[in-house]
Amino acid sequence: MLGAYQQDDTITAIATPNGVSAIGIIRLSGPEAFTICNKVFKGKNITLQASHTVHYGFIMNGDTAIDEVMVTLFRAPKSFTTEDSIEIACHGSPYILEQIINVLITAGARLALPGEFTIRAFMKGRIDLSQAEAVADLIVSQNASQHAIAMQQMRGGITNEIALLRQELLDFVSLIELELDFGEEDVEFADRKDLYTLVNKIIHHISPLINSFRYGNAIKNGLPIAIIGRPNAGKSSLLNLLLQDERAIVSDIAGTTRDTIEEVMTIGGVPFRFIDTAGIRATEDTIEKIGIAKALKKIEEARMVLYIFDAANTPISEVLEDISMINEKNHDISLLIMVNKTDLLSNDQVKDLIATIKTHGHTNVFAIQANNNSQDSLNQITKALDNIAQQMNPEDNQTVITNVRHYNALLEARNALNHVVTGLDNRLSSDLLSLDIKQSLNALGQITGEVTSDEILGNIFGKFCIGK
Ligand code: GDP
Repeated sequence: MLGAYQQDDTITAIATPNGVSAIGIIRLSGPEAFTICNKVFKGKNITLQASHTVHYGFIMNGDTAIDEVMVTLFRAPKSFTTEDSIEIACHGSPYILEQIINVLITAGARLALPGEFTIRAFMKGRIDLSQAEAVADLIVSQNASQHAIAMQQMRGGITNEIALLRQELLDFVSLIELELDFGEEDVEFADRKDLYTLVNKIIHHISPLINSFRYGNAIKNGLPIAIIGRPNAGKSSLLNLLLQDERAIVSDIAGTTRDTIEEVMTIGGVPFRFIDTAGIRATEDTIEKIGIAKALKKIEEARMVLYIFDAANTPISEVLEDISMINEKNHDISLLIMVNKTDLLSNDQVKDLIATIKTHGHTNVFAIQANNNSQDSLNQITKALDNIAQQMNPEDNQTVITNVRHYNALLEARNALNHVVTGLDNRLSSDLLSLDIKQSLNALGQITGEVTSDEILGNIFGKFCIGK
């Protein structure tokens, strides 16, 4: 498995980010970690020191000291990789870090590949695959919700649930296999009623996990939300109003096309990703009339639309037309309708407008004034978004799926289990039942890494940085 990654040598890498910092850390892991480090370390003989101790000294290049350092020792198996490991804390100069790596390599270490420390932890059984993935999520977590979910997963949240369910299924499949051994004889070791109960129980367990992905994915990748409206409706004003407190984080989301600049705002722990509003604005300058037609593509990508219109200048018939166009484009979309420029209308006019829109079945309608930094309007919108965030919140203690790989595996497992249920209803033969059970076992095993392939592992660990 994972041909590129040897496992019996000693690897090293810088663990802290590029650039100047107060302290830099270099990791060393493998059977020769202690002897290699000792060759370049001036201080105590570290090969004689106990695990989990810290020692002061110098890293030497021949007779020249490269830096004054602290080394922390972890003896196997009590380390992240379960191997002998050392962390060298030096001054955080890129030059010093590089020099230390060089002397360690000369002394016999090899530069680690991306994610190789974590791969070793996985290969040696210290963590499973979903925990390894959680390490990656933890490193990039940027808010409390992302952090909490990554921590839960790293501590084995999903692993524990899956492993239990999988074991019960495994027991059953071996009984069914036993029946197959008896060939023509009509024996049933596996009680079909028990199997029925078990499979339903597992489906019952898996479904909330599958459902939690909606939230988990929103936490991890943000909830795509498009601000849609005709020219001059007040889209830019609305965005400015929304983002006033929070400096927009500009992020590059993989998989989308060229203009992927997005503004993110976290409300209720959920990052809302206002997608591609710049793109929409740009088209308006050149082709005035196209209006929302150009933005329809964005609606397909979004999970939510903030539709905004100029209440003083847009006939209600056109507003309703726009709304049905949005709905046609994406039936699953949540729609928030912003009646803008209400300062130009009387209260009664605003009320009438809202009532008319509501009679067409739209409940989330808000009267706002997008310019003038109206705190009232801001509060209304953030409250509406917060509501949406809260509705997505899973129940307490619910394990949350954030990873699309896990999500797909769970869907596959549930699908196969549904086949088992229909198979049992139709008194299907043991060999066909066992095929479906095995497929679900396989899918569940992919989550934790009990079933895996080089391709899956390469995909996961290739995304890690060197040093992790
Ligand atoms: P966009 O083309 O949809 O992005 O619209 P803008 O945000 O650029 O707004 C168009 C014009 O309407 C600007 O002159 C804004 O100042 C003005 N505007 C936006 N919101 C309001 C509002 O609530 N009341 C009034 N009176 N003017 C507004």
